Amino acid sequence: MKAARGEMRIVLVGPPGAGKGTQARMLQQTFTIPQISTGDLLREAVREGTRLGQQARIYMDAGELVPDQLVTAMVAERLRRPDCAKGFLLDGFPRTIAQADALAAELAAHQERLDGVVSIVVPRADLVERLSGRWVCKACGAMYHERFDPPQRVGVCNRCQGALYQRNDDNVATVNARLEVYERATAPLLDYYRRHGVLHEINGSGKPEEVFQRIATVLRSLPPPAQP
Ligand code: ADP
Ligand code: ADP
Ligand code: ZN
Repeated sequence: MKAARGEMRIVLVGPPGAGKGTQARMLQQTFTIPQISTGDLLREAVREGTRLGQQARIYMDAGELVPDQLVTAMVAERLRRPDCAKGFLLDGFPRTIAQADALAAELAAHQERLDGVVSIVVPRADLVERLSGRWVCKACGAMYHERFDPPQRVGVCNRCQGALYQRNDDNVATVNARLEVYERATAPLLDYYRRHGVLHEINGSGKPEEVFQRIATVLRSLPPPAQP
C-alpha cells in the first residue's frame, strides 16, 4: 500500500482558509512524509529576523505574495534535506506559475516529478469565516477555530499547552487582499496542473476528518511513480 511505501510528492493548493494546514498535518502522520508549509517557514524567518524574514515581512503583512525568487530558493533548499528524499507534502507552494515551473525544474534535476496536486475547494463566504476565527499554537503550529474546533481551554493548545494566537494577516482587510491574490495569481495553477494530468479537486466542506478521508482516498489511488 502507498502509505507503507511513503514515496509521494504531493502539492496541496487552495485559497487561504481552505484547510491546507489542517489537512497537511493529518496527512503527514498517515503517509509519513514531511509537511513543508512555506507560510510557516516564512513566519519562522520573520520571527528570527533573518534577511529573508526582513524582506518577506512587508509582503506578508499586506497580504501580497513574497517574490518568487525568494520563495523558490527557500523551498529548493528545504527539498534538498534528507527527510524529503522519499517524498513530501507541499502546503502553500507553488502559488504562481513561475513557482510551479521552478519546482518542476528542481524535481526534474533529480529525475523526480509530482505524483499529485490536491486542490481543496471551499466557498468564499466560508473562507472568511474560517480565517477570522482561526487560532494557531505558537509552540507546535496546531490550528483551532473559535467556533468549529475550539480548544478545551481558551487560548491554550490541547496538544502541547502552548499559547494560541491570531495571525496578524487574518484581519478582514488583509484576508480580502489575500483572496484576491489567490484568484489572480494562484487559481491559474489549477488549469496548469489539470493540463499536466495531476490535478485532483476535492470538496473541502464538512468536518476536517471527512475532508481528510476524501484526500486520503485520492492519494491511495494514485498510480505508482514511474521507475527512473
Ligand atoms: P494561508 O494559510 O492563509 O493560505 P500561508 O500561511 O500559506 O497562508 O501564507 C501566508 C503568507 O505568506 C502569504 O499571504 C504570503 O505573503 C506568504 N507566502 C506563503 N507561501 C507563499 C508562496 N508560495 N509564494 C509567495 N508568498 C507566500
Ligand atoms: P489554510 O492552511 O488553508 O489557510 P487552515 O488549515 O489554517 O487553512 O484552516 C483555517 C481555519 O479553518 C482554522 O481555524 C481551522 O481550524 C479551520 N478549519 C480547517 N478545516 C476546517 C473544516 N473542515 N471545517 C471548518 N473549519 C475548518
Ligand atoms: Zn501546541
